[in-house]
Amino acid sequence: MDEKDEDLGEFDPNIPEEGPTAPPPGWLDDVHGYQGHKGGEGDAPLYPPPPAYNPQPELNRNTLVPNVRVPTVSEDVAREALLKFVESKWRYSSKPARNLTFKELRPITVYRYRLETFSETRTSGWQFEPYNGQVVDGPQFGVSPPPWDVPVSLPQRFSDRVEKVRVPHSSIVKVCHMCSGCGRVRCSGCHGRGQKRCPFCHGHGRSGNKRCTSCHGRGRKRCISCSGQGLKTCSVCHGSQNLLHFIQLTVTWKNNVSDFIPDRQPDFPDKKFEKVTGDPFFVDESVLVYPIQGFPDQEICDVSTKMIHEHLERFSSTSRILQQRQTIELVPLTQAYYTYSGKDFGFYVYGMENKVFTSKYPSACSIL
Ligand SMILES: [Zn+2]
Ligand SMILES: [Zn+2]
Ligand SMILES: [Zn+2]
Repeated sequence: MDEKDEDLGEFDPNIPEEGPTAPPPGWLDDVHGYQGHKGGEGDAPLYPPPPAYNPQPELNRNTLVPNVRVPTVSEDVAREALLKFVESKWRYSSKPARNLTFKELRPITVYRYRLETFSETRTSGWQFEPYNGQVVDGPQFGVSPPPWDVPVSLPQRFSDRVEKVRVPHSSIVKVCHMCSGCGRVRCSGCHGRGQKRCPFCHGHGRSGNKRCTSCHGRGRKRCISCSGQGLKTCSVCHGSQNLLHFIQLTVTWKNNVSDFIPDRQPDFPDKKFEKVTGDPFFVDESVLVYPIQGFPDQEICDVSTKMIHEHLERFSSTSRILQQRQTIELVPLTQAYYTYSGKDFGFYVYGMENKVFTSKYPSACSIL
């Protein structure tokens, strides 16, 4: 503000000017178990959870899995699947699909291993709301429980959810840090004067030899931000003058999923498997699951060991593991060989949905 602003009028120096909405650092005392909060902005992480809250794996434990047989697709099913695929592509004719001759249907064993880790994370931070005489659950009712002891209702297992809880006995009422209890603040646009210097004539009232048309020669204009009032209702306490501060605990449940399919069909794009389901013939659920052992496909055993180790490392350091689930699915995959118009072709039928993948399909024009 320079001296030129003097002629814009008076303001009340007892009313503070509007500023940042967050309380200044050190405004609130630390609560035991919830240290590390910075002036109400952003949440502080509360991990890793103490060992008492996080399950520990037992050494040398493994899980045995039964053997399975590979399902086969009949010629009718394969043809039906191809017809459906061809009809979805406008540039393909259904004629070859109807008239082709199958040479061989070769089922391929594809296992998909999936590991799910259902975890819970807790963070906390100061929050406030205008105080209008509501009940204040403050420290006079007892000591706030440690973060991992605050009771919350569990969501359905393996589903994602976020819940915000007020930490018991953490509430405190303080005078509003923005308006110092006035309920109103001076407008920062005009510093409480209600008027601003005209931006077109810079307060001269004239531009060149002409009277300024923007301010009609007055040199100043009404402040739009406060409608010329100079004061505004405090946006932090909404005029209530006091604030109720409390610690808010944010509890996040997340299902962390990792999938693996051994890459053994070079001419079949593995990404296709992501969109189809398989037959989950083995499901193992526990607080902690253990590596799979003795399964005919050694790569599945190895990946189970590796993934379980990775999940344990990743999630027990930042969150609490509530439940794990490992699944082995048999994902149907059949390679179909056929002849059409004297030439050899092939396609894949995959997934429980019998989807089709083909890199080459005969054109209808090439026939007789
Ligand atoms: Zn203003
Ligand atoms: Zn002007
Ligand atoms: Zn206020």
